[in-house]
Amino acid sequence: MQLRLLLDAALDFIYPRIYCVCCGERLEKRAVHGICDNCCEAMPFIHDPRCHVCGKPAPEESETCPECRYHNHEYDRALAVFEYSATIRELIHRFKYNKEYTLSRTFGYFMTELLMECGWTADMIIPVPLHKNRLKSRGFNQSALLGDYLSQRINIPCEEDILIRSIDTKTQTGFHRQDRLKNLKNAFTVICPEKVEGRNILLVDDVHTTGATVDSCSKELRRAGAGNIYVITAAAVLSDLATGRRRQ
Ligand SMILES: [Zn+2]
Ligand SMILES: [Zn+2]
Repeated sequence: MQLRLLLDAALDFIYPRIYCVCCGERLEKRAVHGICDNCCEAMPFIHDPRCHVCGKPAPEESETCPECRYHNHEYDRALAVFEYSATIRELIHRFKYNKEYTLSRTFGYFMTELLMECGWTADMIIPVPLHKNRLKSRGFNQSALLGDYLSQRINIPCEEDILIRSIDTKTQTGFHRQDRLKNLKNAFTVICPEKVEGRNILLVDDVHTTGATVDSCSKELRRAGAGNIYVITAAAVLSDLATGRRRQ
């Protein structure tokens, strides 16, 4: 833990938060999340009322959203900070593919704020794993970086060796929920079931799309005897049903 804090302090030294990660403007004051006031105001935060299951916008608080009325989730509750808008898509792309690791602290900061508001009590953080082939080609797991950051901030251990991705699945982009679920069938394995039995889990991922990925992880954790399963992501893709928009 101390080593991680030291690394974070070193990161702060190497990449001081001087410029806004969105517009590049010089930050007036030290902003831990690295976003200037103007950009922060324009960020697509998801606000209440939210669906009490998936955390996406719902007509009223404690109601289920149109999506969750059609299908059940394997997890108990999920929350996301941002709507997956063009701005967020770009930031996540920079984080994952341009290796701008420091963005884990931008997303992690807002994810921590949300976690502090919702009052979930979890025993451990489990980041959605990448298959070892993907890990090798990308060099890092973006969800594990987010999990590490949250672990430091909320003081819950982040466990990266309990849930593994045992099958190297095809990319899910463009798939609908049913196809995603089929694609992910048996993709995840809990390798130490005794460590999750009766424990409340906080699953961490970058984007909640249809929920198929976190549902597949939750199913395996459930099978291993996990207690409550919560999901936190930096962003959520809102469905056409929720927004009344047509997806491009
Ligand atoms: Zn800005
Ligand atoms: Zn929902």
